[in-house]
Amino acid sequence: MARYINTRYRQFRFLLNKAFPSWEPLLSVRRFWNLMFSYLQWKFGISFFATKPTMLTVEVVRGCNINCIMCGAGETKKSFLSFDKFKELIENFEETIFIFLYLWGEPFLSKDITKIIRYASVQKSKIVTVYSNFTVLPDEVELINSEPYEITASIDTFDKKKYEFIRTGAKFDKVIENLQKLIKTKQKLRKNFPIIGINSIVSEETLDDFELNIKMAIELGVDKIKFQGLFPFPKTGLKDISDRNKIKKITEIKKKYSDRIKIEILPFYGGIGDDFPKGYCFLAHFSGAIDTNGYALPCCMPNQFFNNLSALLLSSYRNDSILGNVFEDHKTYIRNRVDFLRSFRNSRPTFCSNCPLYYR
Ligand code: SF4
Ligand code: SF4
Repeated sequence: MARYINTRYRQFRFLLNKAFPSWEPLLSVRRFWNLMFSYLQWKFGISFFATKPTMLTVEVVRGCNINCIMCGAGETKKSFLSFDKFKELIENFEETIFIFLYLWGEPFLSKDITKIIRYASVQKSKIVTVYSNFTVLPDEVELINSEPYEITASIDTFDKKKYEFIRTGAKFDKVIENLQKLIKTKQKLRKNFPIIGINSIVSEETLDDFELNIKMAIELGVDKIKFQGLFPFPKTGLKDISDRNKIKKITEIKKKYSDRIKIEILPFYGGIGDDFPKGYCFLAHFSGAIDTNGYALPCCMPNQFFNNLSALLLSSYRNDSILGNVFEDHKTYIRNRVDFLRSFRNSRPTFCSNCPLYYR
């Protein structure tokens, strides 16, 4: 219990210090009000000022070195966001607190990744999270010293055969070796951060692997494991779970292991899983996503537009799926985001047309 409280306290302090740095009081005040105004707009539809996303997903790499059957990033031409472009981008997002470095590609393919994390975390006081397939790993010491808050490995199942079928092109043993290397380096450096986690996508194919995944996560010594539903991946390589009752067993398994590892279950369609904010979509009001070319989306959810982003841009710049290009015209991006949020309650935006999170 004491260990649990100690860990939670350390995490709370880390988050608070980054979000509201005492050495930058003006910035802390701006972040606080941005958060408050975003909350008022989300909860009550009241909009006083243009807000900035509190959570920003930045695509540092478009494209992937493997080709998961539910994705498609492996078939996409690779593009990269350079360190200089990242610096330019982040300059206009002072109020943003959380940075997520992934979208439609493998972030560890970027040669600048540790520089990018370090700049965001240390220079700009952001809370940085990275998701990776862990088939490749930057220098572990450099990575840990770049001060990310959380690094998560995408491992849907610890059944090697199934894993290599789903994550086509990935070698299971290499992924586990890389994960172990990072955990050992963190221990050797006696660091409390980053939190090292595992993210497992739950589908019919992996439904029976909940417990195996949790046991393996404990054995490997990761800090937490997270389960998420299949929605909203662009390809249909995996089968979504047809009988929602089947998922309920995950909550029982969670209880069994929750004193040994932190387990998060993102809510599935039927509301099974951890709590999710009720009402209009909070992601629309608190988040944003920028791709490697600077094009902005209201959130990081790949949807029906995601596969065809460039075609959409050519046909209609002001389509409500795209909020503008932050490199070309940041002011227009802000204006478009304000319009998107002001009309969010009146009519469901095209961008959100198939999304179950629009109103819950
Ligand atoms: S799901 Fe992730 S690891 Fe798999 S192809 Fe897509 S970007 Fe790559
Ligand atoms: S409703 Fe869905 S698609 Fe729309 S902003 Fe929210 S999460 Fe994104």
